[in-house]
Amino acid sequence: MNRNAEAWGSLVANLIEQKALRTSRVINAMRQVPRFLFLPERSVEYSSIDAPLPLGLGQTVSAPHMVAMMNEALELEVGHQVLEVGAGCGWHAATIGEIVAPKDIPRSERGHVYTMEVVSDLAQLARENIMRHGFGDRVTVIHGDGSLGHADKSPYNRILVTAAAPDVPPPLVKQLKSDGVMVIPIGNVHLFQSLIRVRKDAKGGLTRENLGGVAFVPLVGRFGHNI
Ligand code: SAH
Repeated sequence: MNRNAEAWGSLVANLIEQKALRTSRVINAMRQVPRFLFLPERSVEYSSIDAPLPLGLGQTVSAPHMVAMMNEALELEVGHQVLEVGAGCGWHAATIGEIVAPKDIPRSERGHVYTMEVVSDLAQLARENIMRHGFGDRVTVIHGDGSLGHADKSPYNRILVTAAAPDVPPPLVKQLKSDGVMVIPIGNVHLFQSLIRVRKDAKGGLTRENLGGVAFVPLVGRFGHNI
């Protein structure tokens, strides 16, 4: 086993011990889809440090514990249609692809991940990573303003936003299925953000739950921050 793979294995073991990772499907996806495969060359040696890392263009890939926590909070199931806002390098989307569309079940039962990225060079990086690592039939990268969602493939069982929004963008609420779950960081541009889980009930009613303090780069676009 190479050094990166070994270090990744230890990090996943720590996340299990810390209970950031709890359910077997989420644990397996974290094992199967190591972050170093998706990083620019200069960041690879830091891949197994549990912190965000630079992707270039002022953006970052999330810390492994944050991806673990969000994937657990989303209550993902095989077959789910998922929208991610903020593709970055495509790593988080690939971990979800592994959960909702495992290769060992028939194609017709697999879910799909649509991931949106507003920075065109990052959308390109995410697309290349997704193709190179065998997720092309489970994850679709879309270049555009994800604060508007992606109505074409809606409604979604699950929506996650990986950049901090001023509030829940109304188009995302509209594009979430009944009994759907959305996980989204809400707050100021750099500080005082909370990870919020929004549940939509069968009648379209919404409930919000605060999962704790977080630090994400800002969501831009129509329903993002004006920066
Ligand atoms: N999930 C990513 C990390 C996300 S960092 C990964 O696995 O690498 C947040 C990303 O959100 C950045 O790449 C940023 O460019 C993007 N972003 C910010 N506002 C956006 C918007 N309105 N629509 C789509 N992407 C956006």
